[in-house]
Amino acid sequence: MLARLFATAALLVGIAAGDAGAQLKVVTSTSDLYDIARSVGGDRIKASHIGEGFQDPHFIEAKPSFVIQLRNADVWAFVGLDLEIGWMPLLLDGARNQKIMMGGPGYLDVSKVVPVIDVPRGTVDRSQGDVHPLGNPHYWLDPENGRRIARLFRDKFSELDPKNAATYTANEQAFEDRLNAAEKGWQADLAAIKGKPVVAWHTSWRYFAEYTGMDIVAYMEPKPGVPPSPSQLMAVVAAVKRTGAKVIIMEPFYDRKLADVVARETGVQVLILPPSVGGTPAAADYVKLMQYDIAQVAKAVK
Ligand SMILES: [Zn+2]
Repeated sequence: MLARLFATAALLVGIAAGDAGAQLKVVTSTSDLYDIARSVGGDRIKASHIGEGFQDPHFIEAKPSFVIQLRNADVWAFVGLDLEIGWMPLLLDGARNQKIMMGGPGYLDVSKVVPVIDVPRGTVDRSQGDVHPLGNPHYWLDPENGRRIARLFRDKFSELDPKNAATYTANEQAFEDRLNAAEKGWQADLAAIKGKPVVAWHTSWRYFAEYTGMDIVAYMEPKPGVPPSPSQLMAVVAAVKRTGAKVIIMEPFYDRKLADVVARETGVQVLILPPSVGGTPAAADYVKLMQYDIAQVAKAVK
């Protein structure tokens, strides 16, 4: 009875110490967080993710299998800034896992370590459809934020599993080394992109634009999360004609027919880009995702 009590207490506070073979169970909301967590955790963690790279992360179906993953998790890492507001509360309520509830040791709101852009001034009325009421949550598309995410995982995994801290530190450094090396390789593409006018469907490309220097002259959506209206399409056509933008950048889960309308009117290219790891086979991990997206945009704006 006493042993059972101790076991329960240890479980509640998330102590893995003493169990040399135990891996931290890490669940992430997106495939990008998953890939970076895996890079840092290596074989010391068991990682899984909820959303796939080709799905709209704002709108994921809350499946029972996700609840089961979360029930056993030591860490729940999510993008935050309300990106997952439509589905995360349901999953966390269902999982009833104190370790990963707000205030628990494994509740990891990754947005806390990122400088957030597009934070609205004043209050935002969500009923008007704006899905970014706390600022822009698509921050992983800037490699500097990829580094911040990796360091956060290093620190959190080391806190929960101190005996493997040296491994997490070494893995994190290896991730940054790999990213730094890749970054040197795509400098010519960055130079080609800098200052070039483009159209984006959603404001998901804002951090990418900050990093690459591409100039987003119009959005297909009149507001983040609000589908293009006829008047918005006219405004986009006008912006393309005014600026000479050569490309509309959009995710695979939006309705490209509307982008094709603008393309027919202006000759602009429609470029479907994965916003996340696994969104296309070439974007197999975080570094390859960045490399692929930068190369595709560079080709399109040349
Ligand atoms: Zn968004």
